[in-house]
Amino acid sequence: MLSYQIPLVPGPVSVPEAVRAVYQVDYASADLEEEFFALYAACESKLQRVLGASAAVTIQTGEGMLALWGALKSVIRPGDRVLAVGTGLFGYGIGDMARQVGAEVETVGFPFDAIVDPDAVRAAALRFRPKLITAVHCETPSGTLNPLDELGRISREVDALFYVDFVASGGGAPVDVDRCAIDLGLLGSQKVLSLPPDLSMVSVSERAWRAVADVGYAGYDALAPWKDGPARRYLPYTHNWSAVAALDVALDLLLDEGLEQAYARHASVAERCRRRLEGMGIRLYPAQEAYNSPTVTAAYVPDGWTWPTLDGALRAHGMAVGGNYGELAGKVFRIGHMGSQADLALIERGLDVLAQVLAAGAPA
Ligand SMILES: *Cc1c(COP(=O)(O)O)cnc(C)c1O
Repeated sequence: MLSYQIPLVPGPVSVPEAVRAVYQVDYASADLEEEFFALYAACESKLQRVLGASAAVTIQTGEGMLALWGALKSVIRPGDRVLAVGTGLFGYGIGDMARQVGAEVETVGFPFDAIVDPDAVRAAALRFRPKLITAVHCETPSGTLNPLDELGRISREVDALFYVDFVASGGGAPVDVDRCAIDLGLLGSQKVLSLPPDLSMVSVSERAWRAVADVGYAGYDALAPWKDGPARRYLPYTHNWSAVAALDVALDLLLDEGLEQAYARHASVAERCRRRLEGMGIRLYPAQEAYNSPTVTAAYVPDGWTWPTLDGALRAHGMAVGGNYGELAGKVFRIGHMGSQADLALIERGLDVLAQVLAAGAPA
């Protein structure tokens, strides 16, 4: 189906009408027009506000994974040490990606239903002395949110760069790039910002720019051309003007609402979602609510149901939620309430449908 009446997948999320309208405009060539560069600069400064970053924020073509790969390849040479903090699929996966880039990787791993224990990371960092420490803020498949402050301090203590995937949280929960000493902060357009999967954004600290210059990686996803390319009016490729224009609208929507208000909206929708799931006798994943992300709620597939039967029954009612991957596949499903979907009325409607489907019972 092209779209659902009750879209509750944890990304890509439903694109609001005001943002979709921007894509109707017939834009000229981004690399030739002064107007595009002004738009790019405006978006960068709005992103700095959203992310609490005084550092540069690049805006590149390609969705979140481009940021994850490009930032790794731009600061890692074969043989460099990377300490990957894994509390879920993305955290462990970033360790695997660093290995593919040729890094010597050590993973500090935690169960998928846990969040990071900074003491274990500190001990590993002091022993392993990595060049880069990687972590994930919101582990979307597990519905968890990791604290970042202490990991930032550890990175400074061992003089490592701190790489954080906040693709599924940025804009919906405070990420505080400066306060958490994040050197490479990764964002995608298709989550809280509620754009199509068109853009990736990376906050890059001065320390990270030095590593980028030192490594000298060239490629479509490379960070280097974005250091002073926009100021020099020289881009490595024709940018997606429509998407950047839509980003500007999405950032205005967020900043006009107010970041604190947006965070409170996400937190209250998440809270309501958890209460109602519990009310239906559905077990939350993980059980510790302090670990839960305000942008996505994970829960066990209810007794008597398989994931395909539940998914099919919900879809038949016009509702789409997320399944899972790896060790959580078939066991844990997810309700995505980020950005446009962090909407109390939408969540209530979705949970009404879930209650109705459960009351009707699983198909024999
Ligand atoms: C969505 C997401 C990404 C980007 O992944 P896609 O599946 O390509 O959208 C990266 N990291 C996290 C934590 C995400 O939730």
